[in-house]
Amino acid sequence: MIVIKTPEEIALMREAGRVAAAVLQALQREIKPGITTGSLDKIAEDMIRKAGGEPLFKGYHNFPASICTSINNEVVHGIPGLRRLQEGDIISIDLGVRLKGYCSDMAATFGVGELLPETARLLEVTRQSLQEGIAAMKPGGRLTDISHAVYSHVKKNNFSVVRAYAGHGIGTRLHEDPQVPNYGAPGRGPLLQEGLVLAIEPMVNYGHWEVEVLSDQWTVVTGDHSLSAHFEHTVALREDGPEILTIL
Ligand code: MG
Repeated sequence: MIVIKTPEEIALMREAGRVAAAVLQALQREIKPGITTGSLDKIAEDMIRKAGGEPLFKGYHNFPASICTSINNEVVHGIPGLRRLQEGDIISIDLGVRLKGYCSDMAATFGVGELLPETARLLEVTRQSLQEGIAAMKPGGRLTDISHAVYSHVKKNNFSVVRAYAGHGIGTRLHEDPQVPNYGAPGRGPLLQEGLVLAIEPMVNYGHWEVEVLSDQWTVVTGDHSLSAHFEHTVALREDGPEILTIL
């Protein structure tokens, strides 16, 4: 069941979104060779709690940390720990915040130091595909208009979209209906109407779209060991179009 949000609820989600965006910005400044993913997790948890929020991922299906840190060929759900970032790595950071009962969810992929041009292009195309998806979230449209916009942009740039994971509705819970796939034909699925709030989150692989889950039961990696990038925003559909909530 899709839960449509009132303007008052969207205002609360905007507050939760702002906290997530501030945390991600702070983490971006810490990303450099030598820092451990565990220390990024600690910074995030401290900041979220100081803002009066709760890290949404901690304990979610027993996930042990406040953020997901996925490096290089890791797609999503990497667990922070003792691993140190190295020059030329890419790291996807995904985080969720609950504040005053409402949730926000966002992700971005960052380079550690200097990236190879093709790696930088993967990040840029993934970021653009999220923007294309958001732009396709128009009142009166259909859900898969978003999916198709993401997919078309990625395909045109010769990368591949992960199919096993999708975006989702979000509100008082992290995962609500509907699922938001990042591929497929446009014009299908639920009507895009005012008050719909979605976490749109393309995961894009340099190589093939297939993925697998490691034996830690969490970390998702590319099947062909190629690099993967992930960008996500929580977006509300307003009368005049989409509003990104996970922004400062
Ligand atoms: Mg999400």
